[in-house]
Amino acid sequence: MAQEAFGFLEEEKLIPFTEGVLRVFDRWGERTRRHKARLKFLIAEMGLTEFLRLVEEERLSLRYQTYPVDAGDVAQPLPPSLPIDLPILPEGRESDFRLWFETNVFRQKQEGYYAVGLKVPLGNLSSHLARSLAAIVRQYAADEIRITINQGYLLKFVQPEALPALFLELDRLEMAYPGYDSTADITACPGTDTCNLGISNSTGVAAALEKVLIDEYPDLLHNRDIKIKISGCPNSCGQHAMASIGFHGSSIKLGERVMPALQVLLGGSAEGEAAIAEKVIKIPSRRGPDALRLLIDDYQTEGLEGEYFVDYFRRQGKMYFYSLLKPLANLDQAVPEWYIDWGSETDFAVETAVGECAGVIIDLVATLLYDAEEKASWALAAFESGYWADSIYHSYNVFVTTAKALLLTEDVRNSNQMAVMRDYDRLLADKMQWKFPEGSFVAHVLRINQQTPGQDFAARYLSDALAFLDKAGKIRPASPDLQTLKQTQS
Ligand code: SF4
Repeated sequence: MAQEAFGFLEEEKLIPFTEGVLRVFDRWGERTRRHKARLKFLIAEMGLTEFLRLVEEERLSLRYQTYPVDAGDVAQPLPPSLPIDLPILPEGRESDFRLWFETNVFRQKQEGYYAVGLKVPLGNLSSHLARSLAAIVRQYAADEIRITINQGYLLKFVQPEALPALFLELDRLEMAYPGYDSTADITACPGTDTCNLGISNSTGVAAALEKVLIDEYPDLLHNRDIKIKISGCPNSCGQHAMASIGFHGSSIKLGERVMPALQVLLGGSAEGEAAIAEKVIKIPSRRGPDALRLLIDDYQTEGLEGEYFVDYFRRQGKMYFYSLLKPLANLDQAVPEWYIDWGSETDFAVETAVGECAGVIIDLVATLLYDAEEKASWALAAFESGYWADSIYHSYNVFVTTAKALLLTEDVRNSNQMAVMRDYDRLLADKMQWKFPEGSFVAHVLRINQQTPGQDFAARYLSDALAFLDKAGKIRPASPDLQTLKQTQS
């Protein structure tokens, strides 16, 4: 259906399709239970066919039906002029350079140039280091850095004679780790380090696994087939579901005590025939390195010549790996260390919270009305600039946000925009006695889907949204604190 509607394999229809997806997710996606605030849950709930039907329904209201993408329009970065006295490789550094060259440097399509991958542990880069890196990049590569999906960086247009100097400069910053995008270049989300949704530590276990690979399996610095990715909870920010070997944070209860755990997933792949990794078994977090050793040893002895890990997983099947790892899930031998998570010194406890921000006390209704006012100002600005579709969508958000504020005065909280609109009709329509020509608030607001964006409709829709906000503001004026805030900001 999506293919018929959007032909989404055609590049020029991809952007409008994506905007439709975002709008449907905004309207129907879960917002209250944050651990369910993911597109995958919405699709699982309503089914792909219904989801795509709703996306198609959005199409008429989008600013662009097609959006030509011409890669040729993007200015190509230029190689730098190199300093005359390039540093040379000192004696004794040849083998380090060779390993870095073999694992991090790639020949570009453009004759005579190389791209250089930087392995950045956990993707962390301080501002101080970033400034030093930028100075090096300007000197030896094109003035552009690409951030890669594996939390690394890619430099382009490095000339062969500049490679040793670049290696030495990166090494000075401790950024010349070999094994870019290799098995030993593990991707991990922040997990319990900073994320309130994290169940168990993902960064500490990533470091422990990288150490195993570098110390015990150095050949895997050259391997780009097996990808390892880790998330601190099932939400997959660390992309564990597309890893050959994935882990996500979890916990295991043993009697009265709880230990940090890793759910092991295998067989995912983002390349060739893409595949979602399958859940295999849950093990104590502290057994992560042993699990990795078992999996690598088994693959190296039982895998066929030239067989990719994902193909090996498919050939052996999930139960084979379940049996292989099952001894690690045996809790009979549990030792005190298993109750302490990576990077911690105290016993583990599950401490998830609602989100990633610190708790504050605010007047939610007033804040929502303020939010609606802000969206109204965007709608006006877009209208004045002639961006009809944008203005209409901001006006749509004025309706929804205002209705949400009104419902909150009745202590009604909603999990998504559609629920807000329906609850308004169900719970407030009689009380407010505001008449909508279309018969209901839902129909009044969802006119957005029935119209091609144009000046007339944008003007009417904006004026209706402002009138709705105005009435709501008279019922529930903003709190004095908010008025102060608004005055301060204006
Ligand atoms: S996957 Fe990681 S970053 Fe994403 S919500 Fe879970 S712990 Fe937080």
